[in-house]
Amino acid sequence: MISKKMKTMVENSSTIRAMFEEGKRLSSIYGEENIFDYSIGNPNVEPPNEIKDIIIKILNEEKPNTVHGYMNNSGYEDVREAIARNIKEKNSIELNYENIVMTCGAAGGLNVILKSLLNPGDEVIVFAPFFGEYINYVKNFDGKVKVISADTNGFQLNLKELKNEISQNTKAIIINSPNNPSGVIYSEDTIQQLSNILREKEEEFKQDIYLISDEPYREIVYDNAKVPCVLKYYDNSFIGYSYSKSLSLPGERIGYVVVNPKINGFKEIVSSLNIANRILGFVNAPSLFQKVIKESLNLEVDAEIYKKNRDLLYNHLISIGFECMKPEGAFYLFPKAPINDDVKFCEEAKKFNILAVPGKTFGCPGYFRLSYCISYEKIKKSLKAFDNLMEKYKK
Ligand code: PLP
Repeated sequence: MISKKMKTMVENSSTIRAMFEEGKRLSSIYGEENIFDYSIGNPNVEPPNEIKDIIIKILNEEKPNTVHGYMNNSGYEDVREAIARNIKEKNSIELNYENIVMTCGAAGGLNVILKSLLNPGDEVIVFAPFFGEYINYVKNFDGKVKVISADTNGFQLNLKELKNEISQNTKAIIINSPNNPSGVIYSEDTIQQLSNILREKEEEFKQDIYLISDEPYREIVYDNAKVPCVLKYYDNSFIGYSYSKSLSLPGERIGYVVVNPKINGFKEIVSSLNIANRILGFVNAPSLFQKVIKESLNLEVDAEIYKKNRDLLYNHLISIGFECMKPEGAFYLFPKAPINDDVKFCEEAKKFNILAVPGKTFGCPGYFRLSYCISYEKIKKSLKAFDNLMEKYKK
């Protein structure tokens, strides 16, 4: 018999699994080319061409026994130093290799941070709409998630509610910008205000409250939008980063955590992250891909491809009457469902071969998510299906 904790996780993961099964079922009936699967955030854009050459160069040129071995659980020092220098140049903040821990993607990074911070019963605050996996990551360490309701007027952070909800039990806050699922980037003003509130509350409760900024979409931004760097605004902060989206390498499991040099108890926290990487079973981030990253720091996928997709889908949905924020980054649209029941609406969408994820999954009922990291041609072909779906809701 599996554990009680895993039993609830297995039960709760069934919606996404059901969606995957439904996609397969519909494809077998209508043909894969006629199914508009907007359900999964798996990048369709290929990694930059240079990545393949870099991998081959490393394999050909590195000395024997240096590519595939164990290293410090935090990763190779030279790789961490190169990443620290790169962040420092982009954001004018003092960092070195000690501030960087290489991780198995953002998921690995977040788990390593939470393992280091949480005692059973500690509260972690998330803002709707949020990446649903946060709930499981927090439960992994017997923490409690508190959800702050969405600020549906623009999907910035509902700071008024946050102010009332932070308590003696609050250990950490997770934010994600550019946001999955809304595509919104939290503005400098929002981050500044959030930091002020956290400092006030730290003072009030005489304890540390950590800000964890989950940023796998940092490089996927449109129209020259800028993502403010939280390290500059709040000392007790971490960034969780990943190359899953910025280099389209989700299967390679490579990313890093940045620890703010001004965080309280820096040395102990860094040692803890290092051990957490080991004992959670990651041991270390993949060695070959750490080396690949060192040579790829100035490479990015072509975000223009996603921008073209965004413009096509967004403009069309708006033109047929959907309400939606225009995403500033990431590759998701988060429109309002034309009926209150988002689950029912997504069921209806399936009848038009459109697979979408109900907003409920992101703590934000009444909305639905479309992942537009699929081919432009597929999006074009799907527009008629959206017309037919919306027709049902026209009075
Ligand atoms: N955080 C957010 C907001 C995501 O959307 C994802 C993946 O889709 C992750 C974390 C996990 O990404 P990774 O592949 O880097 O573990």
